[in-house]
Amino acid sequence: MLYVFPTMQCSLKPSVSNTTFNHASSTFQLWHSRLGHASSRIVHYVMKLYNVTGHKRDFFCQTCVIAKSHQLYFTGSLTVYTTPLQLIFIEIWGPSPVSSSNGSKYYIAFLDAFSRYTWLYLLHSKSQVMNVLFNLSCMLKLKLITF
Ligand SMILES: [Zn+2]
Repeated sequence: MLYVFPTMQCSLKPSVSNTTFNHASSTFQLWHSRLGHASSRIVHYVMKLYNVTGHKRDFFCQTCVIAKSHQLYFTGSLTVYTTPLQLIFIEIWGPSPVSSSNGSKYYIAFLDAFSRYTWLYLLHSKSQVMNVLFNLSCMLKLKLITF
């Protein structure tokens, strides 16, 4: 979107009359948009420089929020987990650019959807994933038997 600026003289201290900018539509939002969605500090600075009145009150810019978001909004899951171990999320990450103190470059994390209990294992290589899965499954079976 283009914003039309009135013709201004270039000088260190602008000499623009208040009546040029100080009308009802000169709100903070308008100046924020005119300045290419600049930060509040910059908008206040420019408005003060040109003696424009306007307050940041109830200011919200949806364009800035969308532009600064790193992922699309998604709704939360409606699934309700009622007991532990109904669902376990697994994440494998690596290789890390820096090894841990024991030389591990990968990790695998298991997260229980119900309790949010997390098991984290450090791995030297991805080939250890199956062993970790097997060991965790054995440990969980023993725990379930003992409950
Ligand atoms: Zn904005």
